[in-house]
Amino acid sequence: MLDQCIWVLGSLIQRNRAFGVGSVLDYSVEEDLTTEEAERKEMDSCTSASEKEMGDTSRREKKYRAHQGFGDRRGGVISARTYFYADEAKCDQHVDTFLNCIKASSGSSEDSFLAIKLTALGRPQFLLQFSEVLQKWRRFFHQMAAEQGKAGLTLVETKLEVKKLQETLASLGIATKAESQHWFTGENLGVSGTVDLLDWNSLIDSRTKLSKLLLIPNMKSGQLEPLLSRFTEEEDLQMKRMLQRMDILAKRALELEVRLMVDAEQTYFQPAISRLTLEMQRKFNTEKAVIFNTFQCYLKEAYDNVTIDVELSRREGWHFGAKLVRGAYMEQERVRAAQVGYEDPINPSYEATSEMYHRCLDYILEELRYSQEAKVMVASHNEDTVKFTLRRMAELGIHPSENKVYFGQLLGMCDQITFPLGQAGYPVCKYVPYGPVNEVLPYLARRVQENRGFMKRAKQERNLLWKEFKRRAITGSLFCYPSH
Ligand SMILES: Cc1cc2nc3c(=O)[nH]c(=O)nc-3n(C[C@H](O)[C@H](O)[C@H](O)COP(=O)(O)OP(=O)(O)OC[C@H]3O[C@@H](n4cnc5c(N)ncnc54)[C@H](O)[C@@H]3O)c2cc1C
Repeated sequence: MLDQCIWVLGSLIQRNRAFGVGSVLDYSVEEDLTTEEAERKEMDSCTSASEKEMGDTSRREKKYRAHQGFGDRRGGVISARTYFYADEAKCDQHVDTFLNCIKASSGSSEDSFLAIKLTALGRPQFLLQFSEVLQKWRRFFHQMAAEQGKAGLTLVETKLEVKKLQETLASLGIATKAESQHWFTGENLGVSGTVDLLDWNSLIDSRTKLSKLLLIPNMKSGQLEPLLSRFTEEEDLQMKRMLQRMDILAKRALELEVRLMVDAEQTYFQPAISRLTLEMQRKFNTEKAVIFNTFQCYLKEAYDNVTIDVELSRREGWHFGAKLVRGAYMEQERVRAAQVGYEDPINPSYEATSEMYHRCLDYILEELRYSQEAKVMVASHNEDTVKFTLRRMAELGIHPSENKVYFGQLLGMCDQITFPLGQAGYPVCKYVPYGPVNEVLPYLARRVQENRGFMKRAKQERNLLWKEFKRRAITGSLFCYPSH
């Protein structure tokens, strides 16, 4: 069935290619669940065995707990399909589907892409818990920076002095000076007498491998708390299987020269998604950028996220690959934050998001100028953003034929941007939803319903088409023949 649908898609992909437009296959099968069913699945798959046993999830921060009212993650999301966890066998099925797709994508063009979502590959409970750990760890770094009078700097600029840090750790009762001395003697740690977030993160790597009980202080209660709660054997296995599934996909993608784009999702999963993707980049992006991470610029922390990863790629010598988006989950993120009671993670206005997008993009473009293999996809329907990118590429001397900057739009949207870019020789792709027709329909139907806001753009597109039709009629070139 899937083979058939890939075959049908083949002609569409070939047609787009003839106009210089590539494709990113985006498996879009969505179960036709009622809201109640979705909520039930979500609550079940986001709660750990011990929490269920005790009937208590209060040890977790509110943001990183499942909440019944927000269990149906499809609400208010326009352009992204949603996975709900069923069981491990279903995740294995997703892997098989993605593997088929990698195979199908590999023949379709020289620059082939496949989009995947990590929520398809494992139990979301693990993503929630790991996200909480990463965020607490980063917050603790900020607190240490504030103690040293370094609040307000961007993360990439913040450096802690090792001596002072050791004193603070000792005074908080986390580690004696002798113990923490041992922490900062690694190859990269504290060489210059300072520790930045990257050193700090590698500390969590080795510490969590060595010990599952790294303690950090809860500043509100004054108590030391374990950063990781213990997993049952089955949960431990589930977590390992998720990592194995990612590994299988990345290996096959590398083998068949397909690039894997890992989509960004909700903020309570995203730190873990981004971190696991980074681990894959470290392993698989050694020769070229095979794995792409996604950065959502509607997040207040987007610039920190981008710059830290670029800096890490530079320091460790792997190739940075990113897709830059504004972000698809704004509405539900805002309502969830307000109702559950934590800080809104989204920039305060549309203008702030656009400014963040251009700032992050500019930083990456500067990086691309010097790096041979780093790549970015500007995934946006916004004309100003596309124009901004073209202008900055010209100013920085990044030529489209270098294939360092890709553009991405969803199939059926903003063709007036996609096709001229393709015809002008810029690498550009459409995200193409695929899957057996009856199974893709629930997702497509949702997209049609929720896309009403985009009708304004359709009108703009119609006006442009009319203008182009008149121009061609006057110049006697009514039919356009692909140049490739
Ligand atoms: C190829 C492709 C891949 C994508 N992959 C992902 C993905 O992996 N993860 C993901 O989350 N999204 C993804 N998206 C969706 C994307 O994040 C945007 O939702 C969508 O593209 C609209 O943004 P825009 O830049 O195209 O258009 P615009 O209309 O310029 O921007 C709309 C966006 O701006 C932001 N915004 C709007 N109002 C406000 C406000 N008041 N305050 C703050 N911000 C505001 C929101 O993010 C909104 O979606 C993808 C989009 C494309 C085209």
